Amino acid sequence: MNTKYWKVDNSVGNLEEYPQVLEASEFLKKNEVVAIPTETVYGLGGNAESDEAVGKIFQAKGRPSDNPLIIHIADKNQLNAFVKSIPDSAAQLMGAFWPGPLTIIFQKKDGTLSEKATAGLETVAVRMPNHPVALAVLKSCQLPIAAPSANTSGKPSPTTGAHVLEDLNGKVAGILDGGATGVGVESTVIDCTEGIPVILRPGGITKEQVEAVIGEVRMDKALTDLASAPKSPGMKYQHYAPNAPLYLVNGSKLFLDSLVAEKKAEGLRVGVLTTEEQVGAYEADVVLACGYRSDLETVASRLYQTLRSFNDAGVDIIFSEMFPNEGVGQAIMNRLEKAAGHRVLVE
Ligand code: AMP
Ligand code: MG
Repeated sequence: MNTKYWKVDNSVGNLEEYPQVLEASEFLKKNEVVAIPTETVYGLGGNAESDEAVGKIFQAKGRPSDNPLIIHIADKNQLNAFVKSIPDSAAQLMGAFWPGPLTIIFQKKDGTLSEKATAGLETVAVRMPNHPVALAVLKSCQLPIAAPSANTSGKPSPTTGAHVLEDLNGKVAGILDGGATGVGVESTVIDCTEGIPVILRPGGITKEQVEAVIGEVRMDKALTDLASAPKSPGMKYQHYAPNAPLYLVNGSKLFLDSLVAEKKAEGLRVGVLTTEEQVGAYEADVVLACGYRSDLETVASRLYQTLRSFNDAGVDIIFSEMFPNEGVGQAIMNRLEKAAGHRVLVE
């Protein structure tokens, strides 16, 4: 398949009338799939009402079919078509964080949306992205758009158009390149379908931010207890992994240095994931700074790019520093733990 690559300048007004946006929207109406920039990561969009379009998303990504997709909308009124009811907690969260990186789980109306998009569940995950290009496409096509991250399943999510091209060239109808995404990690997923809302996946909106709006929320047990089954089907899969095995290092810099020295002595090409503060202080073959430890949002924003850069640098093993498990650090650690297949080396 010939993949169209459209560059879009985000800063221009009236994006809805732009030829690239209109063409992408026409593709979506014809049940083709198109990669779209959002404020979190690039999404691979398709008509959520069409089994054909949703099938193409799963196929292009190689995504397991039991992993449901997030439905993207541009207007809260679109919800009524496929959601049974809007609980008070969800209404408050929508008011506070939409458009933005918060995905809310609702009860789904029977017979609406492709069953493939929701993986046969009775619930549906929805968000309104805060990105001018994504919103313009959604408004222009007037469809609910299913959009998982626009990467090959299992690889780090894409935060630039070039990352999407690397993974999906020839497999999708088009890629809208609106520059680098901002937040850099996916949306927070929160289940508002029963009782106290539960965060199923930490992401761009922190637990503290959510609690400031609706009071008590819980974290899904599976996020801390690896033995319990996650309520969010996708959370059980290995994700975000660079090519070389990644190990999280829970200990001092001296400990990390000793691990690097040991593997170098074995003749391996060793990578270290650190931050700008420490980037000059390691003796590994490839030392990459992922933002500033003093500002965790910069770490989130650079995370996937940094994981992909280790692939480009061709290392045999990667050791990563760990980050505080609070605020956006929860999302960073969740992604890093998955990328590492939960391998943690403790001093
Ligand atoms: P991605 O689109 O790749 O960012 O992944 C979407 C995430 O949302 C996955 O972890 C899914 O399992 C989760 N998700 C989507 N729909 C639902 C749902 N109805 N209930 C629980 N989790 C969901
Ligand atoms: Mg994904």
